[in-house]
Formats: sequence, C-alpha cells, structure tokens
Amino acid sequence: MADKRLTTTAGAPIADNQNSQTAGPRGPILMQDYQLLEKLAHQNRERIPERVVHAKGWGAFGTLKITEDISQYTKASALQKGVTTPMLARFSTVAGEAGAADNERDVRGFSLKFYTDEGNWDLVGNNTPVFFIRDPYKFPDFIHTQKRHPKTNLRNAEAMWDYWSLSPEALHQVTILMSDRGCPTTPMQMNGYGSHTFSLINDAGVRTWVKFHFKTQQGHAHLTNQQSAEKIGQTREGYQEALYGTIDSGDFPKWTMQIQVMTEEQAQQAPFSPFDLTKVWPHADYPCITIGEFELNRNPENYFAEIEQAAFSPSNVVPGIGFSPDRVLQARIFSYADAHRYRLGTHYEALPVNAPKCPVHHYHKDGQMNFMGQQSGNVDAYYEPNSVEGAPREDKIAAEPPLPLSGDADRYNHREGNDDYTQARALHDLMDDGQRSRLYSNTAEAMQGAKDTTIERVLGHYDKISQAYGDGIRAARAALNG
Ligand code: NDP
Repeated sequence: MADKRLTTTAGAPIADNQNSQTAGPRGPILMQDYQLLEKLAHQNRERIPERVVHAKGWGAFGTLKITEDISQYTKASALQKGVTTPMLARFSTVAGEAGAADNERDVRGFSLKFYTDEGNWDLVGNNTPVFFIRDPYKFPDFIHTQKRHPKTNLRNAEAMWDYWSLSPEALHQVTILMSDRGCPTTPMQMNGYGSHTFSLINDAGVRTWVKFHFKTQQGHAHLTNQQSAEKIGQTREGYQEALYGTIDSGDFPKWTMQIQVMTEEQAQQAPFSPFDLTKVWPHADYPCITIGEFELNRNPENYFAEIEQAAFSPSNVVPGIGFSPDRVLQARIFSYADAHRYRLGTHYEALPVNAPKCPVHHYHKDGQMNFMGQQSGNVDAYYEPNSVEGAPREDKIAAEPPLPLSGDADRYNHREGNDDYTQARALHDLMDDGQRSRLYSNTAEAMQGAKDTTIERVLGHYDKISQAYGDGIRAARAALNG
C-alpha cells in the first residue's frame, strides 16, 4: 500500500516535517512557519483536565448477554433473555492521579456502559457494594481527605482518620478497603457492584428496587501490602499490562451478572434503609439471582479517544430501569454529567465512544464543537412543540410509575439513628483468622502518621463494631511500632 500524504490539519500537503523555517542555517525562526506553530500549539493542548476522582483507569470493550427471563421485573430491552448488548468497561483507582501506580490499595471504580437499542445505560459502580458516605453533601470533604494536603502536597493519614473518626458510616467501606479485597491483583480478579439501589420497571408499570452485582469468573486474587509494594517497584502499570495483555492474547475475562430485588412493600418493612449507600442487602434475605454474563474481548484502538474520553454517568438509564431515593445516586446524576461537560465539552455524548448506537434526536442547539448540526433531524424543527412533519416526539414508553416519596423538607442528621456497626461486624466476623490478621495490620499501617488522639477516637468506633476488631488493630499497631 502506498504511504499516505502528510498534511496540515487543513489538509494541505507538508513538504518538510523535519526542519523549522529559519532565516539562514544559523538564523532565527520565521513567524510564518505555521507548521511549527500549529505543532507546538497542539502539544500544549494534548491534556484535558484529569478526573478529580478515578483519574487512573484501564478499559476494554465487550458484550453483555442476558441468559435468564426477568421480564416480570423489567421491560428494559437489554435485560431480556437472549439479548446481547455491546459494552465498554473502565476500571480505575479512586484517589491517585493519572500517573499513579496501578497496584495501590484503594477502592476500584467499575464503570460499565451498555450501548442498548433504547439508549446508553451506564452503571458507574465500584468493586465494593457500599461507599464511605451516605449523604453526598460530604463527598467533596471526604475526597479532600484522600487527596494531597494543601501545604505539604502529600497524602495525609491524619486527615483521613480524623474524617473517618467523625464519620462512622464510612467504617463499613474502610473495612472492605483494608481487607484482602482492597488490593486486587488485576482488574479481572475482582467483582463489580452497581452499589446504588435502582428501579426495575416492568410492562405493567410496576417498580421493583434492584441492586446489580458482577461476579468475577476469574476468581478473586489480591496482593498483600508487601506484594503490592514489590509489584509497584517492578511496574507502575500493572493493571494496564494485565488487562491489555490478557485481552490481546485472546483470553477474554468474564463476569456473571446478578441482581437482588426488593418490592416496594419489602422496602418499607426493611430494618435498614434500602437506599443507604453504606449498607448492603443481606444475601440471606435478598438472594442474588443470576441473569447473564459479560465478556471483555476488544482492546481500545486509541486509549485517549476511547478510555480517557469515556464519559460514564448514572444519569444514563433506559426505559425499564430507573433511579431510587438513594441520595448519593441523586447527587451523582447531576455531578457526573457536569464533570463531563467540564472535561470534554457540551457535546461529550456525541464523541464516538460515548455516542449511543441507536438514533439520537433532541432539540439542544449549538455550543462549542457542535459538528452534528441540528439533532432533531429536521432543520425546521429547532423548537418543541412544533407541527413539523417527522419531527421528534415524546414516547410514553419512557414514562415511569411515580416515585414513592414523602416527608417534610429539612436537613435531617443522617448520622442520627443509623446503625453503622452491624454490617461492618458481619463482614469482620465472616473473615478467617488470616484475613482478620491482615485486616488489622493493613489498618494499623494506614494509620501511621495520624495523631494518637485521632486513632483513639476512631478505635472507639472499631470497638463498637467488635471489641475483637478494635483490639486487633491495637495489637497490630503495637507490633508495628515495636
Ligand atoms: P453473606 O455471608 O451471604 O455474604 C458475604 C459476602 O461477603 C460474600 O458473598 C462476599 O460477597 C463478601 N465477602 C467475602 N469476603 C469479603 C471481603 N474480604 N471483603 C468484602 N466482601 C467480602 O452475608 P451478607 O449478605 O449478610 O453480608 C455480610 C457482609 O458481607 C456484609 O455486611 C458486607 O460487609 C459483606 N458483603 C455483602 C454483600 C451483599 O451484597 N450482601 C456483597 C459483598 C460483601 P460476594 O458474593 O459479592 O463476593
């Protein structure tokens, strides 16, 4: 095949791509050397703002296949038995910057975009079923404790533990973070959870609350803190190497998709709030129902275009799937799409990796980088309602039953009357001796650098989870400090 002709971005041929245009062999560069100016200007603009959280990520494309009939719960076309849907997955660490080492102990993001025939459905979850906060008002504060101190520009154990000692709702998630599962060996060897409660809506308009789970078929594998330090000493890109390499070799990783369901009546009677992101739904009461699996089988052609610019948002639901009163979900519906408008621009959903694979018709107009023209599909239909023939119209298929909400508006204390200890205790108690001992020593190591008064305050909460838990951390701290 003949080589292609090198051109400027305006399409004109380039005669020399090696030498600047100068006044004589020793002279200065001419202002008219637009090729040089353009090259340098493009380089200055190669980076876009990194994500404030989940900056370091790894992703691949694949396919979701539904194998069971759950039409009694949902009319979502992508969740009908036998349907396959193309998808994108992006895994990430939460706290580290875009250049952070992959194998650090951290929660992992587990974001999925399903390109369904009724629009994109995004599940923007983690490798944990719960999170550190139950009220999104605390999210910026919490994240500040995970990032760098404004003066030292270093991560700060005192900030983390001070915040957690005053936010006992976080300790369930902290327990998972400090357990074996807090340091998965590769992205393939961990589960994913939708974490929030969502709605499934069936043909008859009946709503069922749902949680989504994705169980690794590769088996769980984790690194200890020491193994993780050794791994990072060898490579900072352990996850990228593992995910890219595995898929490149044709060994496609898979996850089993499961749901837990709860009727509206069950939700009213549940002893805990089913919409509290710091709580799981116990398996014994709400069993996991297997509904299908997904496989990752294609690496991106261009990391920046397809992974760095991938924009996942919990606001992306499709007919048959809806939101819930989970207040962290409600805030993320706004904040994720808002982050994408800031990072990628107004029309981020028109970028190829984010664009739905079904027809898109809307009445938004203009804006930076609008290369699509009028997306109503008709130049006369640029307002609505209109009487223009063939213009986009509403479709009641997307109508949802009313959300059952009630109550007086106030700033209720979310820390009052909430049991922050029972589920963390259940997790602690199901671990074997080896897992518990690593939980204690990982926690003690993470506490290094925090003030003793802060540690004492947080240990008071650990004692309430389980005296054995608090004492285990104390013993591990004593061993660490000689
Ligand atoms: P179960 O005994 O039925 O479930 C325990 C679950 O804990 C397992 O199925 C497994 O989840 C998960 N698990 C095991 N080891 C770890 C670990 N080191 N870190 C994190 N998760 C682990 O009891 P319950 O459903 O009553 O849950 C008990 C506790 O287990 C909960 O309080 C919660 O902390 C934790 N858990 C519960 C989940 C749920 O959805 N009910 C999900 C994950 C954790 P999996 O099957 O997802 O691999």
